[in-house]
Amino acid sequence: MKASVNKDACIGCGACTVTCPDVFEIGDEGTAVAKVAEVPEEAKNAAVEASEGCPTSAISVE
Ligand code: SF4
Repeated sequence: MKASVNKDACIGCGACTVTCPDVFEIGDEGTAVAKVAEVPEEAKNAAVEASEGCPTSAISVE
């Protein structure tokens, strides 16, 4: 599974970094970034949860 953040849609609320800290962090531009190329097996559920919980639907997981 891969996760990505549309930085144009992200408002930097930080929710995803709380829900799934293994994958998401706030980057230098103040928006979330996926810090791993591949979502670790144990973080998949949290990554999907973060995607579903993002207020601007900025996160894609596939
Ligand atoms: S939850 Fe969505 S809007 Fe909030 S920081 Fe993460 S990607 Fe950005």
